[in-house]
Amino acid sequence: MEGECLFCNIITNKNGLRQKSIVNTALYEDNMFLITPGLGSLTPGYLMLMPKRHLLSSANFNPNELKRYLNLGNGLREIMGDVYGINPIFWENGTGLAPKYSNCIPHSHTQVAAINFDKEREAQIIERVKLKKFDMSKINDLVGNDYLTYWNENGDAFYTFEEKPRQFMRQQYAEQAGKPSEWNWRESENAGLENIAKTIEQLKKPFEKYLPEFALSK
Ligand SMILES: [Zn+2]
Repeated sequence: MEGECLFCNIITNKNGLRQKSIVNTALYEDNMFLITPGLGSLTPGYLMLMPKRHLLSSANFNPNELKRYLNLGNGLREIMGDVYGINPIFWENGTGLAPKYSNCIPHSHTQVAAINFDKEREAQIIERVKLKKFDMSKINDLVGNDYLTYWNENGDAFYTFEEKPRQFMRQQYAEQAGKPSEWNWRESENAGLENIAKTIEQLKKPFEKYLPEFALSK
């Protein structure tokens, strides 16, 4: 399984993958997590936060990974808040059981975006997919389910098990970014390369300087 997993291959830098495309740049890396720019960046500051272990979702984190994940969340809010003037949002489409017939990427990844939904849109999202408030430190409770989590700029966390349209949050992100037709990252391999280059320029140094301290905080 891992051999076929793109994220595992980026993590191990199989065949020099990280050097082959700037989207595979490590913006931050520790023994448990890797952060790269996101393919299909519609804005600067769009990231993938992934565990190094091949897990279906964050609900499978062990206690050390969960602690690190929460710490990285805090660090990303602080650092990106400084860089972009707004705290980022996070979302994850968690997989409950390995899909049998699907080209979905079965390696947990949280999407991070330096964008805020306006309050009307956020309210619509919450209502449409029945997002419920929860405590992100309880994410293990979601294990075995397909879910969506959303962590907003204030650190309020929500989850839902509702069925949603494909790439639902990508669509919301695209609409909020004023690029409603560009939500589907699969349609153009090179989508957002300019934004990815900006992201690297804006975040690599601040992440190297400040994120390790957040990551290791008690
Ligand atoms: Zn993997």
